[in-house]
Amino acid sequence: MDATQQADIRASVVVIGGGIAGLAAALRLHALAPAANIAVIEAKGTLGGKIVGDIVDGCVIDGGADVCIGNKLRATHLFNSLDLASRTIRANPNGLPTYELRDGYLQRLPTAFDGELLSFPGGVRELVDLACLALDNVEVLRDTRAEVVERDGQRWNVRLADGRSLMADAVVVATPASAAAALIPGITAELASTLRAVECPLTTTITMAWRRIDVPHSLNATGYLVADADAAVSACTFTSAKNPSHAPDGIALLRCYVRRDVDDPVALMRQEVHSVLGISAPPLFARVYRWTSGIPLYTPTHAAAVRALGTQLHSTPGLFVAGSAFHGVGIPDCIFSGERAAESVVSYLLSRSTEAAA
Ligand SMILES: Cc1cc2nc3c(=O)[nH]c(=O)nc-3n(C[C@H](O)[C@H](O)[C@H](O)COP(=O)(O)OP(=O)(O)OC[C@H]3O[C@@H](n4cnc5c(N)ncnc54)[C@H](O)[C@@H]3O)c2cc1C
Repeated sequence: MDATQQADIRASVVVIGGGIAGLAAALRLHALAPAANIAVIEAKGTLGGKIVGDIVDGCVIDGGADVCIGNKLRATHLFNSLDLASRTIRANPNGLPTYELRDGYLQRLPTAFDGELLSFPGGVRELVDLACLALDNVEVLRDTRAEVVERDGQRWNVRLADGRSLMADAVVVATPASAAAALIPGITAELASTLRAVECPLTTTITMAWRRIDVPHSLNATGYLVADADAAVSACTFTSAKNPSHAPDGIALLRCYVRRDVDDPVALMRQEVHSVLGISAPPLFARVYRWTSGIPLYTPTHAAAVRALGTQLHSTPGLFVAGSAFHGVGIPDCIFSGERAAESVVSYLLSRSTEAAA
């Protein structure tokens, strides 16, 4: 679809999943087919999926993602339509290095990511808030779980867990892989089990704040990665150095990633920053975000399974997929996949109306 083209489509489209992929799909659909009836169905009470955050005592806390790769984000339609150029801020503006913790010592990593990383003044959650504000004329059903998607003649019937049904001319499934495996009709058992097998390891992020004078370390880096793959803590971000506007002056804000289920993540982080950074003072506050299903880990067979799914979806016209389960886990990847799905929906609906007119 040409970005400037608008189609006079009066069809109904249901997007299942209100994460960033589903939101990007809904916004692109609305831009291309403003007369279409678009509904977003989200199982939870809030939109945004894995993108969450808070502001506590002037500190901006990202519970999940804390940056987006700049050149990829700039290439999305969302970037222009939400005027993100004037909303984003550059992460790591001082070009600080990243360390690696190896054998108890912090060492500068020889290579660092040298592209542009972007964040938002209010944290990455601001991206979702801006997208939600733009969801004009899109029906949003929160606290609504889709259970089954069924073919009904030329259309689709989306059955909801609360007993209601929504009829649609096209459906975009933008849920995590395991939910998608249950929703996509006629999917082969092999493909469903490949989707269900997409591992999304448990991850916990803990953010803590201290008075800067209580932190003896220079914090002159974006943080460190832990070389020992068996350590419970996998990384620590020096948030107030990486995103200086995220913490008021005089405050040090740090965030740890924990890759195992631990009873007391706060105690674990206090132990970590004590042994590595020499911080013994109690934090001013701590916030914990526990992801029972974190970032998908694609197996070597994942790309082949996604191609097979694409072939299979040819026999289910009007059904499309998007999101981190399929086409990349970074936020810009998820936005791209939502936008591509929306463009495929519009092409499909246009071809259907051309066939009907012939
Ligand atoms: C700790 C962490 C750190 C990360 N850091 C970064 C980072 O720094 N940069 C980056 O680019 N990316 C990062 N990511 C990855 C990125 O945030 C995610 O890949 C992306 O947000 C996923 O978006 P999505 O829309 O595909 O899926 P999700 O956000 O998972 O959204 C799917 C939605 O579908 C809903 N849903 C599920 N089943 C149903 C159903 N049956 N009916 C209705 N709704 C349903 C869910 O409730 C959810 O809201 C991070 C992720 C995590 C967890």
